[in-house]
Amino acid sequence: MTDPPVMVGHRCAICLRIAFPPDPYGCEKCGALATELDEFELEAKGSVRAVATVHRHHHPSPSTPFTVGVVELVAGPVLKAIVEGEAVAVGDSVIGVLVDGEDNDGNPVVDLHFQVVT
Ligand SMILES: [Zn+2]
Repeated sequence: MTDPPVMVGHRCAICLRIAFPPDPYGCEKCGALATELDEFELEAKGSVRAVATVHRHHHPSPSTPFTVGVVELVAGPVLKAIVEGEAVAVGDSVIGVLVDGEDNDGNPVVDLHFQVVT
């Protein structure tokens, strides 16, 4: 398996909170100004906190059904993302993978999905 993709977030120099996506206005925890935030690389690696299967939605892509997971990254931040596979469960370890796809206008995009690590 290849290494997980690296995501760029912020780390507060005052309270050390790690944020993803980056905090554009300052630290949400201690209120430090944006000038106190440093870029911070996070591995796209974590565990599933919650999971749901989407059977219908209003965009043509991705095609249904697909699974959305709430993923807690090893570095701490929590995000929602597509988790590939059908047997995704709370507590599963996951790793990020880059997937070619299309946006709603048909333009090519690269999206971050996760897959269960066995
Ligand atoms: Zn802070």
